[in-house]
Amino acid sequence: MKKLKMYMDGKWVESISGAYFDAFNPATGELIAKVAEGTREDAQAAIAAAGRGFEQISSMSVWERSRLLTSIASVIEKRKEALAHTLTQDQGKPYHTEALPEIEGTIAAFLEAAEQIKWLETSVISVEDSSKRVFTIRQPKGVYGIITPWNFPFMVPAEYIAYGLAAGNAIVWAPAPSTSVCAVALAECLEEAGVPQGAVNLVTGKGAIVGDEIVANPGTDAIGFTGSTATGNQIAVRGAGKPLLLELGGNGPTIVLADADLDRAAKSIAFGSFFNGGQVCTSTELILAQKDIHDELVQRVLQHAKEIVLGDPFDPRTTMGPLNNEMVVAKNDEHALDSLKKGAEILLGGKRVTNMTSNLFFEPTVITGVTEDCLYCQEETFGPVAPFMSFSTHEEALELARKNKWGLVSCIFTNNLKDSMYFAEKIKAGIVTINSGSGGGSNVPFGGVAGKQSGMGRIGGKYSLYEMTDLKAICMDVT
Ligand code: NAD
Repeated sequence: MKKLKMYMDGKWVESISGAYFDAFNPATGELIAKVAEGTREDAQAAIAAAGRGFEQISSMSVWERSRLLTSIASVIEKRKEALAHTLTQDQGKPYHTEALPEIEGTIAAFLEAAEQIKWLETSVISVEDSSKRVFTIRQPKGVYGIITPWNFPFMVPAEYIAYGLAAGNAIVWAPAPSTSVCAVALAECLEEAGVPQGAVNLVTGKGAIVGDEIVANPGTDAIGFTGSTATGNQIAVRGAGKPLLLELGGNGPTIVLADADLDRAAKSIAFGSFFNGGQVCTSTELILAQKDIHDELVQRVLQHAKEIVLGDPFDPRTTMGPLNNEMVVAKNDEHALDSLKKGAEILLGGKRVTNMTSNLFFEPTVITGVTEDCLYCQEETFGPVAPFMSFSTHEEALELARKNKWGLVSCIFTNNLKDSMYFAEKIKAGIVTINSGSGGGSNVPFGGVAGKQSGMGRIGGKYSLYEMTDLKAICMDVT
């Protein structure tokens, strides 16, 4: 069996403990690799290496760093099919429709960062004192600790690594244990592309151990975390005093008004609910449908859900693979049962599929009559679910949306311009989409809002660079 080591200080190393953990294919339950189980001491060694790596990466010119990112993109491009294969095997998403596009998105992230850093501008500021010249520069923050989830194991790390390196930071990275095979594959690309020694350091192992060490250790200057709200809150405590970029969970509602184009809304909802098995922070997990069109919309979404083909994620006919791990499937079981107890009606799914190659396949699920006390409203489900509530007036819909705990993305479907702006301006969310579930691009600022539980800070294009640099004012006396 393949034994995957950690990458730190430009070398592949075992854990100090010598221990390895098992990596399984979620679609088959097969053991695919053994991954080094890092300890706190390993994380400390990686942080020290990043301290040295920072000297190298930060002293490269912006143009040199830009070329480095382009080289990383080229290596990923060259290995595209193999990386997508690893992604499907390790994470479970369909190879053709989701894994290959994620690798393409990863390539794009490195290329975009390579461009963005070249055109990042700062300002010259006029001040009252005529003897002074004041201007600003952006500098790297130093050693960036990054901790990433398993739902997009290439794309999410790329968002941090590409912009982190572009800005001149060194990185210590703890990936989610259940997709660590992907992390090793990405680190191999970084090595081949010639990332300076110690500029990126990968520590695999339990988040509560290696992740916690990265967050709390004084050797990391800033933390970038994508993951659940619960873990994000712990990180906010353990990393107190450090700049924190927290990209957390979401469950923002999709509101469909009576005058909406139902065909368009149903397609978007089905995509939002079932893409990546619903394991997306921006997925459609709560649909508020106006009473007059509720039943019609439900039927249309149901039709899309019935067309989903569950199965081997390498089979081109498959449109949905297994969920990634037992915890997320158990949560989906729990949320469906809870809604039944509270009077909701499951029109499709709501349970695991029993005759599959592993126990991690969950049926596409459509549920009506969900109430505010259901776990579907109270928590993030992170699964292939389309739970419906109905409402009568705009004010009622807005009130339901306002009570929602998350503030990442909300969608509104209507053909009325005034109504769309009413909701877009009043809903508390980092992004509100109108007549589409998509935010439009990787350079759009993305993140949670104050007063909600989806985190803080912004990623996306130049916003990632703003986040991952410190702004310094230089004040010169010319007399
Ligand atoms: P998680 O919070 O369980 O784990 C995320 C990462 O944190 C993993 O690498 C894990 O090992 C690590 N970790 C766990 N405990 C830790 C600790 N005490 N200290 C430091 N690190 C620790 O989340 P998950 O189940 O891997 O991912 C799913 C979650 O990620 C969902 O809530 C989803 O909404 C969120 N997510 C958010 C975004 C976004 O951009 N906002 C994108 C993708 C996923």
